[in-house]
Amino acid sequence: MIERRQIAVSGVVQGIGFRPFVYKLAYAQALTGHVLNGAGGVMIEIQGGSDSLDRFEDHLVSQLPPGGRIERCQTHKMEVLPSDSDFIIKASSEVDGASISLAPDRFVCPDCQREMRDPNDRRYRYPFINCTCCGPRYTITSSLPYDRSTTTMAEFEMCLECKKEYTDPTTRRYHAQPIACPECGPTLRLVSHQNRADNQQALQKTAQLLSDGKIVAIKGIGGFHLAVDARNEAAVSRLRRLKKRPTKPLAVMARDLDVARQLVCLTEKAEALLLSPAAPIVLAEIRTDCSVATWIAPGLNLLGVMLPYTPLHHLLCDKGPLLLVMTSGNRNAEPITIDDEDAASHLDVDAYLVHNRKIHVACDDSVIRCSGEGLPVFIRRSRGYVPEAIDAAFLPKKSILALGALLKVTVATLDQGQLVVGRHLGDLNNTRAEGAFREEVNRMLVFGRVEPEAVAVDAHPDSASGLFAEDRFSDLPLLSIQHHHAHLAAVMVEHALGLEDQVIGIILDGFGYGLDGAIWGGELLLGSFSRFERKGHLRYIPQPGGDLGAVQPRRMATSLLADAGIGSDDVPVFDRRIADICGIGSVSPLTSSAGRLFDGVAAMLGVAPKLQTYEGEAAAKLEAVADPFCDDAYPLPVLGDTLDSRVLVRALMADQSATPLRAARFHNGLADGFSKMAIDLGPARVVLGGGCMVNHLLLRRLKSKLEAAGMQVLTARRLPPGDGAISAGQAAIAACSPYQGGCV
Ligand code: ZN
Ligand code: ZN
Ligand code: FE
Repeated sequence: MIERRQIAVSGVVQGIGFRPFVYKLAYAQALTGHVLNGAGGVMIEIQGGSDSLDRFEDHLVSQLPPGGRIERCQTHKMEVLPSDSDFIIKASSEVDGASISLAPDRFVCPDCQREMRDPNDRRYRYPFINCTCCGPRYTITSSLPYDRSTTTMAEFEMCLECKKEYTDPTTRRYHAQPIACPECGPTLRLVSHQNRADNQQALQKTAQLLSDGKIVAIKGIGGFHLAVDARNEAAVSRLRRLKKRPTKPLAVMARDLDVARQLVCLTEKAEALLLSPAAPIVLAEIRTDCSVATWIAPGLNLLGVMLPYTPLHHLLCDKGPLLLVMTSGNRNAEPITIDDEDAASHLDVDAYLVHNRKIHVACDDSVIRCSGEGLPVFIRRSRGYVPEAIDAAFLPKKSILALGALLKVTVATLDQGQLVVGRHLGDLNNTRAEGAFREEVNRMLVFGRVEPEAVAVDAHPDSASGLFAEDRFSDLPLLSIQHHHAHLAAVMVEHALGLEDQVIGIILDGFGYGLDGAIWGGELLLGSFSRFERKGHLRYIPQPGGDLGAVQPRRMATSLLADAGIGSDDVPVFDRRIADICGIGSVSPLTSSAGRLFDGVAAMLGVAPKLQTYEGEAAAKLEAVADPFCDDAYPLPVLGDTLDSRVLVRALMADQSATPLRAARFHNGLADGFSKMAIDLGPARVVLGGGCMVNHLLLRRLKSKLEAAGMQVLTARRLPPGDGAISAGQAAIAACSPYQGGCV
């Protein structure tokens, strides 16, 4: 029996060689019809025997090319077309329907690497080689549908050879939009005071400069990196001075997996992540014999490693140092630099390695922690993952724009059941970041064709994003969403919990505006997408000097000691002058932040820096020093609806044990206190969220205590647990709440 079917496919189905794949499947089953890319997804019309059609549909799902993901696949029967005699790939057109997401940027695939190293190949050592299933995607695309004309490759005219590959469905480069070769594609240039060189010479000289300890700004996929030989301590410290990053850990790029294995302990999962097309930075435990750690990640037990992911990286690593520091080319806290002139005026380095393929969208490297037996946790979700959508068809069908919080900002859109969380924008505390933020909002609306019916912002009354929204979207309902409720909802939405589901949320975090005006951050919530109640929290203590209290851990230590009644001048970390301002409400706001508790305890144990130069520095050092095998805990009893940190602080100060044990007992005590409170509350499902959940010891203890009590524990998997996921939570909450304005 001959049938004709229409199949609408949505998900990650553009930029992965999906249409040639469909062509081959149809060809194999001798089917006729066509396939085309629309703005709404991929549309297939297919005709043939019903058995062959069923097999075709099976294979469509089961043999999907790597990197693709089908979110929905809807089939309708159609009238048979007797004249149909071929299967063809039709040109892109605009078709409405389910929304689609473009594939994220991908590493250079093994096939392209092989060609690149083959002296007989016409793309031998060509730094911009790519194919249908690899290369830049999101960062070069200005609008959908994904086509050569909508990318920054539009200005390069294909040579005859490239054109032939591009139009032949049997080649590896059929409709590879960024297709290029030395004949027709982008070129490389090295610029410095003494040098100017192009292409192969530029590569050669750059490798030499790096080997000589020079700092080179290298244009990559999502922006500039600052590169320096990681084994050269003097060169690295020069880079640190340049970036004003005295202690912040730097990511390194290892020539290959073997080099990476010599630095950090890699689990199977961690290696798979390193080798995946997204090619993120993987944070893993530093090996004891790793010599570079003392200047790359001082005082920490984790190091961020990645592998070369562009052809250019491979060619550089082949010739240059086998281990490079590769850090985002930006000034401290500012967004990553993407254009050549900007780089030349902003980054004060020895040389620039640039090329003429424009970056349309900046995208930092993604960072994923994958250490010990723990599950991978996103620290930063950006290149390689953005703009992959999360299916949120279970939420009410509303169009929402969500603007995130103050730190680690991302923008999210929810539209037609698809939740898209944008790239990492950094902290909204400088004009360049605010500019990038405004641009990102516009671009995400245009790119996703979203016309929001409401805008969700953080409840903080004078957040930059909130003020921006009031101005830019004055005609739309503005919903201010409480920060920790958004953390709760972010984990709920990625686990596709239902609208009726009620969960407990243990949200351990740095900073979020509380509904009572205090700074929240050690919270026990009971809630759903549409509402929440605060069931408990860490005891309020003053945060001496407000923002200063967040960067000087000694201030929090003093506040905690004073609160516990054991502040005395005999305690070295205690500061009388700071204790004196604790009582002044306007100077020292109250906080229940778990992040600040970590800061204070790190200072008490002597592992905190005087001044934190990056967020979570003291906490990371406290975790690094803690003994992972220690099982006992300091008490953190429940007093009404608060966890009484005074008891914990007194136990910690009375304990004469070594620092690793005391640090571990603190972690365990904090986890046990919250677990107990959650277990007493009833509902059997618990969400763990907030920036502190990147802490593996804390997360592990919470999970084991809660699961031992028969509770189901949900953690952040596809989004970061920290503020990078706030926009996702805000969008979900906004979609579920009646638009009443004010706090949800
Ligand atoms: Zn390839
Ligand atoms: Zn060409
Ligand atoms: Fe937060």
